[in-house]
Amino acid sequence: MIRQAFSDLFERLGSTSRRGIRPATLRESSLRSRIMPTPIPRELILSLQHYPDTSAKDVSSMKPCVEVGEWVAKYQLIAREKGPNATRLHAPTSGTVQAIEEIPPAVNGQRARLAIRLLTDTDERELPLEPPSDYRSLAPEQMIQLIEDAGICGMGGAGFPTATKVRDALEKGVKTLIINGVECEPYISCDEALIRERADLTVQGAELLQAACLADDCVIVIDNAMPAARQALKEKLQGSAIKLQVVRRRYPAGDERQLVKAVCRREVPNDGHPTDIGVLVQNIGTAVAVYEAIVHAKPCISRIVTLTGSALLTPKNFDAPIGTPVQHLLNLCGVNENQHEFTIRGGSMMGQYLMDQAAPIEKTTNCIIASNNAEIPEREAEQACIRCGYCEQACPAQLQPQRLLASIRNEEWQDTVELGLDDCIECGACAVVCPSRIPLVSYFRAGKEIHNEDHSAQRQSRHWQERFQFHQYRIKKNQEKARSAKVAAQSAGEEQGFSRDQARMEISAAVERVRRRREALARETGHGEEKS
Ligand code: SF4
Ligand code: SF4
Repeated sequence: MIRQAFSDLFERLGSTSRRGIRPATLRESSLRSRIMPTPIPRELILSLQHYPDTSAKDVSSMKPCVEVGEWVAKYQLIAREKGPNATRLHAPTSGTVQAIEEIPPAVNGQRARLAIRLLTDTDERELPLEPPSDYRSLAPEQMIQLIEDAGICGMGGAGFPTATKVRDALEKGVKTLIINGVECEPYISCDEALIRERADLTVQGAELLQAACLADDCVIVIDNAMPAARQALKEKLQGSAIKLQVVRRRYPAGDERQLVKAVCRREVPNDGHPTDIGVLVQNIGTAVAVYEAIVHAKPCISRIVTLTGSALLTPKNFDAPIGTPVQHLLNLCGVNENQHEFTIRGGSMMGQYLMDQAAPIEKTTNCIIASNNAEIPEREAEQACIRCGYCEQACPAQLQPQRLLASIRNEEWQDTVELGLDDCIECGACAVVCPSRIPLVSYFRAGKEIHNEDHSAQRQSRHWQERFQFHQYRIKKNQEKARSAKVAAQSAGEEQGFSRDQARMEISAAVERVRRRREALARETGHGEEKS
């Protein structure tokens, strides 16, 4: 994962807060221009594996309802969920189904997926939409049905079908609807761009979602680093019952549980969802898609994607049809090939290296970063834990990452349960602040997969297990190497009196790492050191 590679970047540009971290904002470049419509590419690749879970066993979660050679119109339903959930896939433009075949994994750990290859034509012939004559008089279940028909899923990244979530909220009688516009990842600006340019649709989408789940209150939450979006929302919210709340920018403030805590001052139960305590959380992009679905009966066929990174000549946000190859968007930005060493899908904290630039934009793809090692340096070698406690201070889930690390390394699975491994949201804040560069979140992810596999043979954890075993093998090998080197140094030292010097050097290195981190904190907060 990318987040460990970002440790250096955050060391230079960010700092810790009491819980979570406060990364530098790196979204200005992609916000210089307005959201750009995307010229339709020659081919769209529409994945039939809806869920972003990279270890999903099946090659597809959806069943195609078109055949190879068939011509399809824009907005035509081309696939639907196999299971009980409400996922749908529609043609983003008109064209001919060229193939329904497996496409290679886009990111490490993902399996091959089934996809529809649509050879687009230039006609953009579309099915006529049939919007409701008076959407304001629709009953909640009718609105939810329109959301389901439009195939909307959570556009914040998780991709859970929105209709299923709203129906659950309605049945549970939620009191509060939170529209999540907090961009806590440093590079992602798609939600900010959307609010800035389509604040009216955001507000109307929020009102419709509130009417669909019958929540008493609705709050739109943004962070304090979006002045233009804040101003646009303030204007559109005049006279509305919807409230605007601005939270301090901090990672991972946009996480559902953190947001509920910040807005409602209530904790989501460890094994539950926000709806269990009467709260429904929806992303900004989802609210706009809901507006289009209920008012215009328009299926979800595109999304806003941030294209950014130092290898791009003109970073920007695109309104991209689902299925657009990443390469097509990179070309539209202009790529400086000398600067382009890798591409990341997703943000810098939660994203993954893209293995294939022909991979398509999906409903959950919010950001593509084209970058290089100068901008995103390689992670330094992992060192021993010095028990500084920074990881614990940064953890938004109030865990003790250093203790979790020890229990995973020792394979003490009962201890990991008691220490709350399942409550780890894998945000990576602990790994970013760790002065010993320990890839904590990789250990936690691997630990969860191995532990869960013990309890559910269905879970696909082979990938992470292999990675973890390999990692352990490397650790053991390094430890053995270090032990032999120490023994050799000690025997030499006993003869030459160097063993104490060696120990002093190791202690000084650890103290120096802590000192650098404290100085960074003092610079950022402007009022001295935080207690470690
Ligand atoms: S332990 Fe988990 S939740 Fe806590 S900071 Fe680390 S990754 Fe985030
Ligand atoms: S931040 Fe790193 S070095 Fe410090 S206690 Fe946590 S794991 Fe150990």
